Amino acid sequence: EASLPRISCAAVIIRPSHVVKELIENAMDANSSQIDCVVKEGGIKLIQIKDNGDGIHQNDLIIACKSHTTSKLHELEDLKNMTTYGFRGEALASISHVSHVTLQSKTSDSICAYRAAYNNGQITSKAPHPCAGNKGTVVGVEDLFYNVPLKRKTLRTPREEYEQIVSVMREYAVHHHSISFTCKKLDSNTFDIKTTGKDLKGAILQLYGSFVFTSLLFIPKTTTEACCFETFVTNPSYGDAKSTKLLLFVNHRAVENRAMKKSIEKMYSQYIPQNMHPFVYISIDVSFLSQDKVIDTISTMIEEELAKWKDDTAKTTVNPQ
Ligand code: ADP
Ligand code: MG
Repeated sequence: EASLPRISCAAVIIRPSHVVKELIENAMDANSSQIDCVVKEGGIKLIQIKDNGDGIHQNDLIIACKSHTTSKLHELEDLKNMTTYGFRGEALASISHVSHVTLQSKTSDSICAYRAAYNNGQITSKAPHPCAGNKGTVVGVEDLFYNVPLKRKTLRTPREEYEQIVSVMREYAVHHHSISFTCKKLDSNTFDIKTTGKDLKGAILQLYGSFVFTSLLFIPKTTTEACCFETFVTNPSYGDAKSTKLLLFVNHRAVENRAMKKSIEKMYSQYIPQNMHPFVYISIDVSFLSQDKVIDTISTMIEEELAKWKDDTAKTTVNPQ
């Protein structure tokens, strides 16, 4: 049985929606303006994400699912992302260790698309096969956790897993509001998400209901020394009876943060009737950290690592008397 693959320092793939999140982020990074998601049996049988982005070169397809394969590591920006989010180039590799992955992709300078299948990070054929296809990438993930029965058992019903996928897509559709998203079940004719380029407020309205709209307070883009953020919150007269909805994006990645959620709930509790919960969208951008700060951060990390090494070495070289 395969052990649980690592996606980054902190995150692992536990649910189909985690796969969807990684695939959406890859499509976004490839400058897509249209992202279509098709799901079968809550993503356990199939997750297919199609984009119209830059595509993957025929030669890069060979290694696309290998560990540490990334095209996103040459800028300072990425160095900084690395310090924040752990190692890159692990998502496709991790996914291909617990499912059957296929990639079909066409770049703008290629006359046709290429297609390949993967197993445990390895391409299953000698080379990608030429085929017909539009510019962009189609990622297919089939039979999730087929080789990790324990993981399969912890999944909820296909309906619940699908709801989670839709929920993740909805958040990204708000954040990337100028991009068109669709999401549907494979055997359905109706879309559960279908957006068409709107502004941020319009996207929240479309995806989270019109009643939120009249109560939205906008906190304009604010820039401090540490970060830049943009925020929509519902005014205290609006409340959802079920739960607080916090959409938190850091450098365009959806993240969960309990401390932030707790602090927001505490603030609202002074204004909002009991058992009512706010809707809050926050986008934080820390990408303009100065180079000095990045170098400082990395230096500190290296120094800590070296100090740890020194400690460990001291321990192991002590003679056990
Ligand atoms: P990362 O995104 O951290 O680089 P991934 O494992 O998610 O690592 O993806 C590996 C590489 O495959 C990416 O760096 C990118 O070059 C390529 N890739 C993956 N998905 C897409 C996509 N939808 N469009 C274009 N390139 C992609
Ligand atoms: Mg990725």
